Amino acid sequence: MICPNCSCPTKEEMHFCLNCGAAVSTIAEIECGNHSGAAAVGACVVCGMPVCGDCAVTKEKKLFCNDSTHAVFLDHHALLGVSDSEFEADIIVSNLKANGILPLVYSPKGFFDFKSEKADSAVRVFVVKDDRARAITILTELGLEDFIHLETIQHL
Ligand SMILES: [Zn+2]
Ligand SMILES: [Zn+2]
Ligand SMILES: [Zn+2]
Repeated sequence: MICPNCSCPTKEEMHFCLNCGAAVSTIAEIECGNHSGAAAVGACVVCGMPVCGDCAVTKEKKLFCNDSTHAVFLDHHALLGVSDSEFEADIIVSNLKANGILPLVYSPKGFFDFKSEKADSAVRVFVVKDDRARAITILTELGLEDFIHLETIQHL
């Protein structure tokens, strides 16, 4: 699926674009992570929290939650990949740390119904922008390149 807001390819089963946070599915009836009963208009591209119109912060066409540190997070960090499996994410993190790269991990699992919104609740791993190319090389050498959200990375 191509996001109508930023034209980035997004996983078919996701309700929110990984790149810009816009809702890509019109059938989404997901609540804001701060206000129960308020429909989410998108999800923070850092922590993945669904946000309503009152909570959403827009910066450079990307959606963020009302945690002010998230809107500036992507100035220095980039998404490396997402995984449905926390176990796999732990393996990725351990291997990066062993190579001197310190990833930052966000898990939006608590905001979603685990069965129906599995793709949206996937664990996100970010690295400092300058480390991204090296992180991709490390994971590729380990045969873990499936984890890398290549379509998104190529688009960015
Ligand atoms: Zn998008
Ligand atoms: Zn956030
Ligand atoms: Zn809200």
